Amino acid sequence: MALHRGAHRSQDSDGERKVAVNPFFGEANPVAGMDTAPPKHRLAETPLPPSTAFQLVHDELMLDGNSRLNLATFVTTWMEPQAGVLLAECRDKNMIDKDEYPRTAELERRCVSMLADLWNAPDPSAVVGCSTTGSSEACMLAGMALKRRWSQRASKRQEGSRYPGAARPNLVMGVNVQVCWEKFCNFWEVEARQVPMEGDRFHLDPQAAADLCDENTIGVVAVLGSTFDGSYEPVAELCAALDALQERTGLDIPVHVDGASGAMVAPFLDTDLAWDFRQPRVSSINTSGHKYGLVYPGVGWALWRSSAELPEELVFRVNYLGGDMPTFALNFSRPGAQVVAQYYTFLRLGREGFRAVQQTTRDVAMRLGERIEELGDFRLLTRGNELPVFAFTTAPGVSSFDVFDVSRRLRERGWLVPAYTFPENRTDLSVLRVVCRNGFSEDLGDLLMGDLESLLPELRRQSGPAERSAAEATAFHH
Ligand SMILES: *Cc1c(COP(=O)(O)O)cnc(C)c1O
Repeated sequence: MALHRGAHRSQDSDGERKVAVNPFFGEANPVAGMDTAPPKHRLAETPLPPSTAFQLVHDELMLDGNSRLNLATFVTTWMEPQAGVLLAECRDKNMIDKDEYPRTAELERRCVSMLADLWNAPDPSAVVGCSTTGSSEACMLAGMALKRRWSQRASKRQEGSRYPGAARPNLVMGVNVQVCWEKFCNFWEVEARQVPMEGDRFHLDPQAAADLCDENTIGVVAVLGSTFDGSYEPVAELCAALDALQERTGLDIPVHVDGASGAMVAPFLDTDLAWDFRQPRVSSINTSGHKYGLVYPGVGWALWRSSAELPEELVFRVNYLGGDMPTFALNFSRPGAQVVAQYYTFLRLGREGFRAVQQTTRDVAMRLGERIEELGDFRLLTRGNELPVFAFTTAPGVSSFDVFDVSRRLRERGWLVPAYTFPENRTDLSVLRVVCRNGFSEDLGDLLMGDLESLLPELRRQSGPAERSAAEATAFHH
């Protein structure tokens, strides 16, 4: 969320910055009159009638984009009306209040069990897990568990000293990780050791990751479904490289899989890919319920293989609301409705339903990628056959326009297709990325193609890429 500043006083003083009120709106305000404008940046002295307040807020929001045409986001933008009813029924439920809402707590518990089973935990009854507000919170929790385990190992090595010497913990990851891992490292003072991109490899290299590990490495993060291009990182190969490292050096480095998107795709479409708890080295996994878990924002999940991977000292026991409940979370209060909606989605679709939905989305992505490739102006970097997401750039020899031009022109037609520059060592490469989600149908794909085809002739006639601001060139939409 943007960090906002208050408004200048002058904007709030009389005669400045008022919300414009149409006299048609609602009942007359008996105190202030029918068309009195409330200030924008401070509380008005008097209330408004509900219909007027509603209309004002409603109208202001008209200029927000149409979320279904947003091909930048991974987050769910369509759910069934029945899910909407459940969400509305549960909007007053506070997730932390497990004693007051024991059934909501039970549904959360069932979701954790279902995910443990889906992610092939050898002993699902040993798995511990929780819901979160999203993958970012889940990654913070998983990272904290890794850090605390390292600190326990290190203090064992250094007998008794809780903070061993001047040792600084580090976390190894690809440079393509989502921003939440940079946040984790910043907030919790962990060194981020990033494997750069190299040539046509746009994510982590297993051997390069193992080479960055030392005795202060708290873990390695593997991303199942890179936000940059939709590719899966090679989890099994990473585990093998870390096995070899352990044989050579004795270092036993745990792996966390950030499956924000892929942990809800691979279990249905890539059942042979052993990316999950089938790898003994994978100690924890997160996913975003609100991405390919098909629930509106915000719900995520964090699971640990067993309580041995989640140090007990991080777990708080909440008992002042009645009952005794172990919790691991950053927030205290949090909406329960999304957890209920996640359970509904699991119940509603089952494995077959999820498989069908995700396969359809993958088919749409792959078909759209092929059609874009057939235009001849573009080169695909990924094809939507892992996450239903693909990245593409301009074909060699295309010099009259660049990816930023394409993004800007598509935006004129209502489509949000982000363009951004890759990180080290491929900062020479700028791409467009399309994220297909449930609800982005073959038909909508046709409409996007139609718009792209109709603006290409103009782009080809340009004498070169349009100038752009520095902000435009570096903006990356996670
Ligand atoms: C989206 C994403 C995150 C952050 O998840 P939120 O649910 O948006 O907080 C973390 N990692 C990856 C790989 C992601 O795609």
